[in-house]
Amino acid sequence: MTRGGDRLKAAIGADRRACPICGWVGLRFSAYGRAQRRGDARCPRCSSAERHRLAYRLLAARLGAQACTLHVAPEPALRGWLEGISRRYVPIDLDRPGTIAMDLTALTLADASCSLVWCSHVLEHIPDDRRAIAEIARVLAPGGVAVIQVPIGGPTTLEDPAVVDPRERARLYWQEDHVRLYGLDLAERLAAAGLAASRLSVADLEASMVARERLSMPGCDDVFVCRRAL
Ligand SMILES: [Zn+2]
Repeated sequence: MTRGGDRLKAAIGADRRACPICGWVGLRFSAYGRAQRRGDARCPRCSSAERHRLAYRLLAARLGAQACTLHVAPEPALRGWLEGISRRYVPIDLDRPGTIAMDLTALTLADASCSLVWCSHVLEHIPDDRRAIAEIARVLAPGGVAVIQVPIGGPTTLEDPAVVDPRERARLYWQEDHVRLYGLDLAERLAAAGLAASRLSVADLEASMVARERLSMPGCDDVFVCRRAL
């Protein structure tokens, strides 16, 4: 292509958005968010938000066919993809149509029965998160992968059981129904349960892709990919 053609392509393409999950292309994503509404965030076709598209971009090429996928609080945007790559697909939630009612802190699944566990933005809602992490480790098969996302506020987890006021929780933990704000030291909590975590990040991706597909959002730029420690 000529330099002029490149410039034309750049002029047309620079301001477009694209969703890597469903293939939607358009001028802008939709506005999204409860506590703090933000523009240019949600895919108008599949409803994905930044963190869904980021995890998909970081992991879709790495995850092959799965024997059994446990999808915790399944996000509609990712459900079709995860279901499609899994021989057995187990979507769980406490009480939501289209899912199996199951508590992450007391899974009724056999030991080592899941090749993939997908748990995004769930642990920050659970008071006994160590119990939930232990359950994830228990059901994860040797060689399996647990994908965990949580909002990350800094290096160290901020947690105080005395903070129960929703407004105070919103101020400290970013949302009224969050019970802590994790730090990157989540990796230590995972390790204590026998999960060895490596951290993938938006920084691993090309900047132009991050901008076009809107993959970045403050506090949501990291994905913990865990395996059972031997
Ligand atoms: Zn989409």
